[in-house]
Amino acid sequence: MNSFQQAYQTVLQQIQNACEKGQRNLNDVQLLAVSKTHPSTALREMYTLGQHAFGENYLQEALDKIESLQDLEIEWHFIGHVQRNKTKHLAEKFAWVHGVDRFIIAERLSAQRLSTHAPLNICLQVNIDGQESKDGCQPAEVAELVAKISQLPNLRLRGLMVIPAPNHTQAFSDAKTLFEQVKAQHAHPDDWDTLSMGMSSDLDAAIAAGSTMVRIGTALFGARDYSQT
Ligand SMILES: *Cc1c(COP(=O)(O)O)cnc(C)c1O
Repeated sequence: MNSFQQAYQTVLQQIQNACEKGQRNLNDVQLLAVSKTHPSTALREMYTLGQHAFGENYLQEALDKIESLQDLEIEWHFIGHVQRNKTKHLAEKFAWVHGVDRFIIAERLSAQRLSTHAPLNICLQVNIDGQESKDGCQPAEVAELVAKISQLPNLRLRGLMVIPAPNHTQAFSDAKTLFEQVKAQHAHPDDWDTLSMGMSSDLDAAIAAGSTMVRIGTALFGARDYSQT
């Protein structure tokens, strides 16, 4: 086994263990491979092992990879901060955008998504534990944003995305509670099926609390070297 295979098997096993422990169905927890700063060759190797969903944070880097990996059937997720002037590329090239935290962003993505494409999947990013430096809307804003965004065409509002402070596992339960509460505000409640939370260091706690999509970078690809980007 090479190191990618080993890392991939370890992460899959960890997800499986966390599901057993938390009495979760393994099929209800997806793995998103977070590949920011890693070269296309690394994504290609991971793809060969069976991983098809990849998350990227930086638009230009992501567009370059999308271009060079266009022969693969990758499901591309944008998990970075969404800038208002960058929505067009996101609407055109991605299957999912996790970092939506304002109505204007959703409105632009909806307007820029071609109706001939599948609807763009959206998660609303919530600053669940009131961090000062973090993006995301406030928990109190979620109900109204869900009510408004779920009416927009060319989008599917799938759920919430959170990035709690390190070791703040209570935030995962708070996110789960909020997730269950707001379903009723949704124009298409059956679309509301995704709780995007958990990273390399806290995926067990996130799964225990109800995560349906863990976003894993370091545990799959190794440490990130920002000087290379
Ligand atoms: C980088 C990143 C991840 C992956 O983090 P790791 O600790 O490397 O697993 C997950 N989610 C978001 C939003 C990120 O920016």
